[in-house]
Amino acid sequence: MSGRAQLMWDEAVTGYDFGPEHPMDPVRLALTRSLVGALGLDREVEVVAARAAGESTLRLVHRQDYIDAVKAASLDPGAADPAYGLGTVDDPAFAGMHEVSSLIAGQSVGAAEAVWRGQALHAVNFAGGLHHAMPGAASGFCVYNDAALAIARLLELGAERVAYVDVDVHHGDGVQAAFWEDPRVLTVSLHEHPRTLFPQTGWPEETGAECAEGSAVNIALPAGTGDAGWVRAFHAVVPEVLADFRPQVLVTQHGADTHFEDPLAHLAVSLDAQRAVQVACHELAHEYAEGRWVALGGGGYAVVDVVPRSWAHLVGIAAGRPVDPETVIPEGWRQEVYARTRQLGPMRMTDGRWPVGWASWEEGYDPADRLDQAVVAARRAVFPLRGLLA
Ligand SMILES: [Zn+2]
Repeated sequence: MSGRAQLMWDEAVTGYDFGPEHPMDPVRLALTRSLVGALGLDREVEVVAARAAGESTLRLVHRQDYIDAVKAASLDPGAADPAYGLGTVDDPAFAGMHEVSSLIAGQSVGAAEAVWRGQALHAVNFAGGLHHAMPGAASGFCVYNDAALAIARLLELGAERVAYVDVDVHHGDGVQAAFWEDPRVLTVSLHEHPRTLFPQTGWPEETGAECAEGSAVNIALPAGTGDAGWVRAFHAVVPEVLADFRPQVLVTQHGADTHFEDPLAHLAVSLDAQRAVQVACHELAHEYAEGRWVALGGGGYAVVDVVPRSWAHLVGIAAGRPVDPETVIPEGWRQEVYARTRQLGPMRMTDGRWPVGWASWEEGYDPADRLDQAVVAARRAVFPLRGLLA
């Protein structure tokens, strides 16, 4: 019997701070946590602070020489080695970097353990989803790959099939790389096309190594894709591959940087569509993974207007108390937003695009439409490898 959903949270994760000039401002985590509280969602979940991931856990994905380089940069940021992606514009070194990165990883690993052992059916770590970190290098604001570490821990505990679905605007390259040769892990990434966005990977033709053919799925969407196209693409690919793969656990990454206000990318998705895909992921976990669901955060650089609302919705869905999009945000939270950021916080839990309209793939497609071409490319590349009709 599983207990309530777990929300992984340790205030110290807000120490993941690349400095005042960096777009990944940790205030986004603090404001998400306080919005979860203001909406009363923290009473609907068990709030758990897991331990930091130890070195033996980090080694499930990362190379020892890289871990040593992070520890050295953490002690002396001036000595960071750019050969490991450290001390770069994207990943500046800072004191305590190893400890806080290990702490975030520990929250995702703890979430995976709780779900695998049946202590919770769902677990959320919105501080995680650092999907660009590579086995031997920091990349794209990510030091340790908590998503890959959570999956690796599930495999270590005996899982034979783990599915990872990543809806961040950027390709989930680090997770795909970590399991490129491992048929036990299906990675699915829905992202803006590599032609126009970092990390310039995630082409449909990337389908896994020869020994794991069809275990990587990439849906590369045209810049400018909005709600209807984004939700349509998700449903045109993800449910079918999950039905075929039959995961024992579903791990999802909910980067909020698909949003039309996000400063670092070029999709035009609303909060309401993000919520709709969160709801779909929850339903897919129940349909194909006996409800076992680990949900992570990810990117998201509209740190006041988008990230806290998006991930508060995610927590509500996992808690079994989804927040109505029409909900008016408590004034106390908006005052906190102003005090911390001198910005005005949003008024409601919607962008006014609710309910999200979209047309299913079964209703047919338009070969001249660029979104549909992206979906066809993804299906044609990978469905035959899995014995599915493209
Ligand atoms: Zn991202």
